[in-house]
Amino acid sequence: MRIKLIEVSQDPEGLIARCARVSHRSEGKASPEADAKLIRRLIELGHDSVLEFASATFLIEGISRAAANQLTRHRLASFVQESQRYVDVRDQGLVRPPSFPEEGWRKASQLYQRALELYEELVGEGVPKEDARFVLPIGAETRLVMRANFRELRHIIRLRGSRAAQWEIRELARRMLEILREVAPNAFFDLEVER
Ligand SMILES: Cc1cc2nc3c(=O)[nH]c(=O)nc-3n(C[C@H](O)[C@H](O)[C@H](O)COP(=O)(O)OP(=O)(O)OC[C@H]3O[C@@H](n4cnc5c(N)ncnc54)[C@H](O)[C@@H]3O)c2cc1C
Repeated sequence: MRIKLIEVSQDPEGLIARCARVSHRSEGKASPEADAKLIRRLIELGHDSVLEFASATFLIEGISRAAANQLTRHRLASFVQESQRYVDVRDQGLVRPPSFPEEGWRKASQLYQRALELYEELVGEGVPKEDARFVLPIGAETRLVMRANFRELRHIIRLRGSRAAQWEIRELARRMLEILREVAPNAFFDLEVER
């Protein structure tokens, strides 16, 4: 799994605080320290709507289609996912779940190789890629771009970072949180994702 932050609002916390201050006409009180305190206070009070003014865009590669299916259920985020209808997917790997023992993984890799060979055979016989892909498993890698505002990112991290979530999307939530904490520590100060 590879996750890269490809865009984030400029000075996201300054932006959130500047917008929030309009409500009390307190723009004159802005400073990095006061902004940090304000953002934490707003989160504690549940005034999450001001977090919508900042957003981030991630390039996510090497996750399974199983994880991507879950991620793209989040309706307030925007996505572009690589199309199996148009892209030749023979260079894409299979994601290994940590629960797979060596022997199970060896067999899964062989099965995947056979699926790729059949895919190639079918494409060679003139079957469109959008149909040949039906032989590929849900563990096959995919790549996508996701953009969301900070409120939605907090929601996604909270839901997908919970122990109830699938291991792969939880790992994704953990890494996104790490990245977001670097660019906006106060907007994400209260979230935790356990391994
Ligand atoms: C542990 C776990 C297990 C799951 N298991 C399943 C499963 O077995 N089957 C399954 O189908 N799904 C499953 N899901 C997916 C889940 O049901 C949601 O579809 C997904 O988590 C997106 O959540 P959301 O709707 O809160 O978020 P988003 O789509 O990101 O929306 C964010 C928030 O915006 C608001 N919102 C968005 N759209 C609307 C709307 N139309 N009307 C009103 N408010 C709206 C809501 O407050 C929502 O919480 C699972 C999710 C988790 C975390």
